Amino acid sequence: MTMFIVGPVEMYPETKQVRMKDFSYFRSPEYSEMASQCLTGLSSLLGNDEPNSLIYMASSGTGAMEAAVENCVSEKDKCLVVNGGTFGRRFCELLAYHGKTFSEIDLEWNERLSDRHLLRYENQGYTMLFVNLCETQTGQLYDIELLSSFCRRNGMMLLVDAISTFLADAYDMNKYGIDLTIISSQKGLALSPGAAFVSFSRRMMDKVIQSPAPSSKYFDFKDFLTDVVRGQTPYTPPVFIMYELREMLKRFEKEGGPDTHLAVVKRKAEYFRTEAVNAGFRVPDYPLSNVLTPLYFDDIDAERIVSALRDDCGIYVNPCGGHLAKKMLRVAHIGNTTMEDIDILIEKLLLTVEKIKGRKE
Ligand SMILES: *Cc1c(COP(=O)(O)O)cnc(C)c1O
Repeated sequence: MTMFIVGPVEMYPETKQVRMKDFSYFRSPEYSEMASQCLTGLSSLLGNDEPNSLIYMASSGTGAMEAAVENCVSEKDKCLVVNGGTFGRRFCELLAYHGKTFSEIDLEWNERLSDRHLLRYENQGYTMLFVNLCETQTGQLYDIELLSSFCRRNGMMLLVDAISTFLADAYDMNKYGIDLTIISSQKGLALSPGAAFVSFSRRMMDKVIQSPAPSSKYFDFKDFLTDVVRGQTPYTPPVFIMYELREMLKRFEKEGGPDTHLAVVKRKAEYFRTEAVNAGFRVPDYPLSNVLTPLYFDDIDAERIVSALRDDCGIYVNPCGGHLAKKMLRVAHIGNTTMEDIDILIEKLLLTVEKIKGRKE
């Protein structure tokens, strides 16, 4: 079985081993110390050196997205959302669900976000921008410089769902003045699913601390921010995932730092794209994150390719979902896959397409 899906991804053997080992009780000083070190290490990968500004919880990524909406957006805020696919739409749904004020920049699936889209929202009193920096449904990587300077110009806070771009593309909260970042365990970090992490700028921390209690008790960021100072969480944390994280941070260090890791993901993405185009597959031409490559099909049902790869070859790729389900599939480049795996994937893709086309005629 080979996994080319965005997450949970194929884990490294060292990560899988972690669950065989002993672990500390989570209310012990040993655990607190270990968790604090992990959070410091992860913060630095996010480009955030503000102390005690990274919290984590037992939840999937969407839990943290919803928590951000509940905790960070006040009555007075006017939000803007980049909605270029299912994950952008999720922010809209969450904001609507919680009765927040927002507008959305609605992008077609293959439309590249540019300054033209932002123009009408300049000087309109917007206070926050929500964006999934990589819209995982399409793989589009939005231009962080564009979004960052738009927010700076307009005095807006920038809230980023970096779940799929983190550790696939360069990321830096300080550099781009990002106020909030959401990541989760099962994508670029290649850990088990079940942990979400939220990283705050100083001013976002202050805003949250001064805000009234959110509608959810479990997801009250104030409690997490208070407890993280001593390496703790209000409720049982995903203990094993933190041990896996410790292992992964060691791995990055051994590899020669996060840039080496990014280079590996990039090399896999570029190799796959070159090979796919050479084999006659179509890759969309909007800017892509290195996390995945979408393949576009005109004349054949992409969902059938996804199931045939799974059933006949034991290879998992992502379907595209929504109105793109029959048109596109997605191949991920994170996790423990190799160049040889990619060669096999291309070969099987070609065979599968031929087979499906053959059957049709
Ligand atoms: C995977 C992903 C999520 C989180 O999905 P969950 O199923 O809740 O973990 C959120 N945003 C983006 C951009 C993602 O890729």
